[in-house]
Amino acid sequence: MKNYDVIVIGAGPGGMTGALYASRANLSVLMLDRGIYGGQMNNTAAVENYPGFKSVLGPDLAKDMYDGSTQFGAEFAYGSVEAIEDHGDHKVVKTDDGDYTAKAVIVATGSEYKKLGVPGENEFGGRGVSYCAVCDGAFFKNRDVVVVGGGDSAIEEGIYLAGLASKVTIVVRRDQLRAQKILQDRAFANEKIEFVWDTNVTEILGDEMKVTGVATLNNKTGEKGEIAANGVFIYVGTLPMTEAFTGMGITDDAGWIKTDIDMKTAVPGIFAIGDVRQKTLRQITTAVGDGGIAGQEAFGYIESLKSAAAAK
Ligand code: NAP
Repeated sequence: MKNYDVIVIGAGPGGMTGALYASRANLSVLMLDRGIYGGQMNNTAAVENYPGFKSVLGPDLAKDMYDGSTQFGAEFAYGSVEAIEDHGDHKVVKTDDGDYTAKAVIVATGSEYKKLGVPGENEFGGRGVSYCAVCDGAFFKNRDVVVVGGGDSAIEEGIYLAGLASKVTIVVRRDQLRAQKILQDRAFANEKIEFVWDTNVTEILGDEMKVTGVATLNNKTGEKGEIAANGVFIYVGTLPMTEAFTGMGITDDAGWIKTDIDMKTAVPGIFAIGDVRQKTLRQITTAVGDGGIAGQEAFGYIESLKSAAAAK
C-alpha cells in the first residue's frame, strides 16, 4: 500500500489548489480522480469570473491549474474512492483500484447534475437529453433546443447554446430566475432566447430514435402544452458526490459535507473543500480559496501529529 502525507480526493479547482499548497509545504501528495482533472471546469465554455482572465475556456483553465498544482511533486492517479477508513493518525483511502494511506485527507469530490425525474429523461439520454452544453451543443447547430432551469448553469449554458442553435427556449418553473443579474440581462437581450415562465416540463417526448420535444404544464393556469425541440438540456441544480462518505458523520441531511472555517470536518485529519462542502457560493474562486486553506491546515495537522508522537 502506497503511503502519502496527504491524499486529495477529486482534482477540480479546489482539489488542485489543496494539492498545490500541501506539496509546496514539502508534503507528499496524491490527487485521486475518477475522471480527468478539472472537474466541472471541463463542462464550462467561458469562465469570466476568475481573476486574471477576462474570459478563459474552462478546459484551458483546468490544464493551467493542473500544471501549477503538480509543479512541486504532487502526483495524480485515476481511482474511484469507495471509502475512507479513519485510524486516528492515518487514514486508509479505499479505491476500486487498490488502497492508499495518508496522514490527512482532503475531500474535494464536488457535485453532479440533478436529474429532472420525468418520463423520457433516461430513455433519451445521449439521444437528445444532455446535461452538458459544451460537450453536446455542437450536435444542435441550427436546431431548436429546450433548456430546463433558471439558475446560473441554465442561463449561462442557454446563452452558450444560443451561439449554436437556431432557437433556445428556457423553461422556468417560477416567474423569475435564480441566476446572477449579469447573466439574466444577457439572456433577456439575446434574440435567440425565449423564456417560458411558471412552467414544469412533465415529459421528454421523442420518436424511436431521438428527442422531438417536451410536454409542459403551466403550474399557475393548469394549461398543458408541448414545445418542439431536437435537444433538451437539463440544469435543475446539483447533488453532492458524497456516497462514499455517508456514515462517517461528516455530512448534513442533504449529503453536503459540514466543515468549520478551516475546512475541518468532524473527523480530525479529514478536510472538505469546494462544491461538496455545505456553503452558499459554489464557484471556482471559492473552491480555490477552500483548497488553499485546507492544504495549509493539512500541513498544520501533520505537524501536530509529529509533536504528539515526539511528546510520547
Ligand atoms: P441552482 O442554482 O440550484 O439552480 C437550479 C435551478 O433549477 C433553479 O432555477 C431551480 O428553480 C430550478 N429547478 C430545480 N428543480 C427543478 C425542477 N424539478 N424543475 C424545474 N426547475 C427546477 O443550480 P445550478 O444553476 O446548477 O448552479 C449550481 C451552483 O453552481 C450554484 O451555486 C451556482 O451559483 C453555481 N454556478 C455558478 C456559475 C457562475 O458563477 N458563472 C455558473 C454555473 C453554476 P427555483 O429557483 O425555483 O428553485
